[in-house]
Amino acid sequence: MGTPEHRRALAWIRRDLRLKDHRVFQRASEIAHEFVPVFIFDSTILGKLSSDDRRVTFIFDCIEELKDGLKQLGSALIVRFGDPTILVPQLAKELGADVVICSQDFERSAIARDRKVQELLKAQGCRFETGADHVIFPGKSILNKEGQPYRVFTPYSNAWLKLMDEHPEAISEVTWDSSRLVPLDKLRSHLGQTPTLESMGFQPQTLWLKAGEKAAQDRLQKFLPKILDYKKDRDSFAVDGTSGLSVHLRFGTISIRQCVRTARERKGEGPFTWLKELIWRDFYSMLLDRFPHLETGCFKPECDQIVWPGPEEHFQAWCRGETGYPVVDAAMRYFNATGFMHNRLRMVVAMFLTKTLLVDWKKGEAYFAKHLLDFDLASNNGGWQWSASTGCDAQPYFRIFNPTSQAEKFDPDGVFIRSQVAELGTAAYPKPIVDHSVQRLKAIALFQALRPAK
Ligand SMILES: Cc1cc2nc3c(=O)[nH]c(=O)nc-3n(C[C@H](O)[C@H](O)[C@H](O)COP(=O)(O)OP(=O)(O)OC[C@H]3O[C@@H](n4cnc5c(N)ncnc54)[C@H](O)[C@@H]3O)c2cc1C
Repeated sequence: MGTPEHRRALAWIRRDLRLKDHRVFQRASEIAHEFVPVFIFDSTILGKLSSDDRRVTFIFDCIEELKDGLKQLGSALIVRFGDPTILVPQLAKELGADVVICSQDFERSAIARDRKVQELLKAQGCRFETGADHVIFPGKSILNKEGQPYRVFTPYSNAWLKLMDEHPEAISEVTWDSSRLVPLDKLRSHLGQTPTLESMGFQPQTLWLKAGEKAAQDRLQKFLPKILDYKKDRDSFAVDGTSGLSVHLRFGTISIRQCVRTARERKGEGPFTWLKELIWRDFYSMLLDRFPHLETGCFKPECDQIVWPGPEEHFQAWCRGETGYPVVDAAMRYFNATGFMHNRLRMVVAMFLTKTLLVDWKKGEAYFAKHLLDFDLASNNGGWQWSASTGCDAQPYFRIFNPTSQAEKFDPDGVFIRSQVAELGTAAYPKPIVDHSVQRLKAIALFQALRPAK
């Protein structure tokens, strides 16, 4: 390792709320003599959330854990609340940083924010650097023979696996030198008070899982004995057969590299199927990066013609879990209570909203975005467009899940459904608000009427 080119770095953490396998810390400790970790509660993002948003509690708890961890290493985490486009340049100046490092974000609003930060930093003589951490292979790394992004998952996944074989270092654990952290004594005057949840306008929420890096590692350990049966159990929503790591992956309390290593170190169909799910995550992130129109419209432009006829009261009944279809209602009630939903149930309720209630997928997408603890724009949009058949490599429009047979197949004893719909089988339970067999034909007709996009 040569002499670091920078005097002091500011390591701006965002979706990487951990200490282990941390690419931004590694880069900072490599290119600067010393570095300061910084986290900003972004007032632009938080300003759009309701005061009972669970994600803010999750992040807050992670930050508390990180503060302790960095204190034990003899340093500190600088925490602020406000607009990062103002605060990052301000902090860089205040702390004498000549470089700011953070992990790359692929959402349009984040890209615009980072561009602005970069310009402002440049004007004050400070460099801005981003690197991939949230995914294994970012947007442009995997292209087909024509140099274009893949539009079908299986060839993408094959190319991903091939690239992984050629570059196993892409998932090597990243270590960093904690002696490069600026010592606590030099930071005291900059620390200030960490904003409280209340001071930022939020109430602490009870979460279905523990926040933080330690909790993520515990969850992974708990999943390891189940990974061999993952292929068999992953679709059963009555069985706890999946990792439950999506929230941790979303906020980077665990690194995606560690998850991929875990899958690749194990033989068998279970670990390989789990690896494929992690590749879906990269796939959707790549799609959002390469096809930014996804954020506001359908991947297949002709599908933007669809005028979804489902009425507002049906959408509201879906949100409340009062459609009269037990599996849908159980899933939505559990979701409303926790902010989490099993993957198979996400597909069932998304397809039910679009193909049975004939409501625009964007309304469901927005409802999920508001309440999902693991909300990730790329995966959520990908999941919704897959279910609505408007997306890239989506479910064919005529292959519509029957909610009753999905329940029979994946919750045969009704364990999950009864746990959420106590009034099932009584007069208090709502009658089905529509007839699925009639509605599915209307959904098919909506797609058959589409004209090729101009
Ligand atoms: C309509 C819909 C919306 C969704 N919205 C989100 C979202 O906002 N955030 C999110 O992380 N996932 C989303 N998913 C994907 C998936 O449902 C969740 O990742 C999964 O249920 C999380 O549970 P787990 O951690 O136990 O997953 P596991 O089965 O243990 O899978 C491991 C990890 O792989 C990734 N993964 C698994 N399935 C998918 C998938 N289909 N697409 C992309 N990544 C996947 C996740 O990071 C997950 O934690 C959505 C799926 C659908 C159908």
